Amino acid sequence: MQIYRLAALSDNYIFLLHDPQDNTAAVVDPAEAGPVLQKLQALDAQLIAIFNTHHHSDHIGANSKLLKQFPSAVVYGGEADRGRIPGQQVFLKEGDRVSFADRTAEVFFVPGHTRAHIAYYFAPVEPDTIGDLFCGDTLFAGGCGRLFEGTPTQMTESLNKFRQLPDETRIWCAHEYTLNNLKFALTIDPNNSDLHRRFEEVSVKRDRKEATIPSWLGLEKQTNPFLRWDKPALMSAAQTQDPVQSFARIRGMKDRF
Ligand code: ZN
Ligand code: FE
Repeated sequence: MQIYRLAALSDNYIFLLHDPQDNTAAVVDPAEAGPVLQKLQALDAQLIAIFNTHHHSDHIGANSKLLKQFPSAVVYGGEADRGRIPGQQVFLKEGDRVSFADRTAEVFFVPGHTRAHIAYYFAPVEPDTIGDLFCGDTLFAGGCGRLFEGTPTQMTESLNKFRQLPDETRIWCAHEYTLNNLKFALTIDPNNSDLHRRFEEVSVKRDRKEATIPSWLGLEKQTNPFLRWDKPALMSAAQTQDPVQSFARIRGMKDRF
């Protein structure tokens, strides 16, 4: 399985999965049709699946258009998103499995950003390969999604599922928000030298208009405040001993940043 990152709208990423064996493709969160159709044409590939993480328009925007061109493509989404995702045929819940090419994804139910959000985790196929997490707007490089429909308790439980994965896991999140996320992170985790180093690296990349996605989980665990809400430095910045309250306060500060 080959993974291609396609830039869409102002700061979205669409991920196109390609199976070179039989020239089929799948897309994760197609914000708009143009970049997807262009890539499919370049690969001369047939779209067979759309994997949606949640119902927001910048993640499902091209479902209908793509289905018109590829009527047999199967649309996957969360069970609780029933009625909110155009063309949805498969209603996934925690622990379900979906296959594409030589890989199988495990579905995580990760409410918080929305009440129905799911993520797709493609485990490594051999011991020496790397897993891939398509996490939509739940986890970002250096940040996490806003809590539109969920609670801090739900979001910490969701992010905890990601923290259990191997450090090498590639993080394919749906937005290029990294630089601003790290600017905020520095305000509440100023003594984190890994974070300072990452901020410098990302600044250089963004000056060159390079993408910062995919990230990898080990780096997020070292530098992302929304995977570190229960660490002493962050609890102290949030002025609480309660982990969920710490998360809620840090999220609140980011909302106002
Ligand atoms: Zn969203
Ligand atoms: Fe989004």
